[in-house]
Amino acid sequence: MYRLNENYLKLPGSYLFSGIAKKVAEFKEANPDRKVISLGIGDVTLPLVPAIISALHEAVDEMASPGTFKGYAPDLGYAFLRETIAAEDYRSRGCNISPDEIFISDGAKCDCANIQEIFSQDTRIAVCDPVYPVYVDSNVMAGRTGNYDPAAGTWSRVIYMPCTAENGFSPDFPDEDPGLIYLCFPNNPTGTTLTKDQLQDWVDYAIRIGAVIIYDAAYEAYISRDQVAHSIYECKGAESCAIEIRSFSKNAGFTGTRLGFTVVPKAIRCGEVSLHSLWARRHGTKYNGAPYIIQKAGAACYSREGKAQLKEQVALYMENARVIRQGLADCGYEVYGGIDAPYIWMKIPAGMTSWDFFDRLLTSAAVVGTPGSGFGPSGEGYFRLTAFGNKDDTKIAIDRIRLL
Ligand code: PLP
Repeated sequence: MYRLNENYLKLPGSYLFSGIAKKVAEFKEANPDRKVISLGIGDVTLPLVPAIISALHEAVDEMASPGTFKGYAPDLGYAFLRETIAAEDYRSRGCNISPDEIFISDGAKCDCANIQEIFSQDTRIAVCDPVYPVYVDSNVMAGRTGNYDPAAGTWSRVIYMPCTAENGFSPDFPDEDPGLIYLCFPNNPTGTTLTKDQLQDWVDYAIRIGAVIIYDAAYEAYISRDQVAHSIYECKGAESCAIEIRSFSKNAGFTGTRLGFTVVPKAIRCGEVSLHSLWARRHGTKYNGAPYIIQKAGAACYSREGKAQLKEQVALYMENARVIRQGLADCGYEVYGGIDAPYIWMKIPAGMTSWDFFDRLLTSAAVVGTPGSGFGPSGEGYFRLTAFGNKDDTKIAIDRIRLL
C-alpha cells in the first residue's frame, strides 16, 4: 500500500505552455501556408561557439585513454572550473567568493527547485510577481505554500511581491517577513534589473529580518549598464545572507548541454549550522555531478577566445532585443526590459487580457509570444517577447506587428 505525495496533486497543470502549444497547433492546421514565428521561447537558438566545441572534442578524446579517463566527478565539481569561476565571475568584481563555496550543477533549474530542501517546512517564501514559475512550483511540491486560489492564481502561504510599471518592476519589501526571498535579476519575464543600490537595500533587509535571499542570476551575461550588479556578492554583507544561482544556458547556449552552479558562502549560518554544510550533504548523496566533458566545455567559456565568441553571441541576441523594443515603441506600445536582458515585456492595450493579446498576435500576425498572466497574477496586462529567435525572423515578426 502506498499513498501519493498530495502536494504534487495540488499543482495546477502547466496551462501556460500546453495552452500555447494547443492554440499554435490549431492555427497551423487551419493556416498551413502561414509561417508562424515564435518570439515566445526562452530557449536559445545559436549553436555552441567554436571554443566550446573544441573543448568538448578534447575532453571526449581524454575519455578514450586510460591515463586521462575520468569517472565520477568530485561532489562540488572539478577544481579547474570552480577556480576559474571564482576568479572570473567573482574576484574580478571584488566579490569574496572562494572556489570551495561554488557547487557545479547540471543547470540552474535543478538548483532553483532543490535549494528549498535545506529549509524547514514552515519557512515562508516571498517571490517577485511575475517571475520564473520554478520557485513557487518547487515549494508547492515540498508542501510549503498552503492552498491554491484558482481565481486569484495565488497560494495562501506565499508572499507575493508585485513588480509592475507602477514600482518600476522593482519589488517593495513585503508587509510580512519571509524566511526565504527569491530574487531573479535580470528578471524573467520582465527583463528588468535592480541597481547595485537597490540590491544592497535587499541585502540589508534580509540581514535585518534574518532571511536568506536566493538570487537567480541566470541572465547575468546580458547586463550592459554599469549601475547594475552582476552578482549579489557585490553588495556588502551578502556573503552572510545570499545564495546565488547561475547558468551556462543563456550566455553560452548550454540549454541542451546542461551546466550551472550555485554559490553557498560558508558565512551563511543558522545558529551553529552553515548552509554550505547542508548543501554539501545534498551534493554528496542526492546529486550525480555534471560530466567531466561538460565541465571542460564550461571552462572554455572563460578562455580568451571563448569570452570573445560568447560576447558576440550575446550581442546578436541583444540586437534582436533592440529591434523588438524599437518596433513596439514605434507602434506606440509601452515597452520594458530588453536592455540588460533578452526579454521584452510590453503593456498590452487596455481592455484586453494577455491571452486575448496572444490570440490577436497569433491570428493576425502569426507571431507567438507568452501571455504575462502565465508568470503570476501581476503579469496580467503584460506580454513577453524574447530575443532568442533568429535575426531575420525577428525582423519579419516585428514588421508584421507594425501592420496590426
Ligand atoms: N532561472 C531562470 C530565471 C530561467 O529563466 C531559467 C530558464 O529559462 C533557468 C533559471 C533555468 O536555467 P537552466 O537551463 O540552467 O536550467
